[in-house]
Amino acid sequence: MFGFSIQKLLFTVAAIFVVWYGFKWVGRMKKVREREARDRLRRQAGTGGGAGNSESGESGVAEEMVECQTCGAFVAATGAKSCGKEECPYPG
Ligand SMILES: [Zn+2]
Repeated sequence: MFGFSIQKLLFTVAAIFVVWYGFKWVGRMKKVREREARDRLRRQAGTGGGAGNSESGESGVAEEMVECQTCGAFVAATGAKSCGKEECPYPG
């Protein structure tokens, strides 16, 4: 005779499976959530655009850039300097 019943064995196996898949699932959710958070941060820091630039002020991470009408170079909107060409509208 076995020292354990088949029902107990099945239950144990089932419990192990549940725990195993539970851990796997939790780990995957954690990874997904981390990636989502990272994406969100990158999106906030990255594009910025013209939406709400009140927060990106002092650190100078994303200084507003304007395109030079003449030469097409991008210069900082505040204190724009000439790119060196004579036609450039900015003081150099
Ligand atoms: Zn220019």
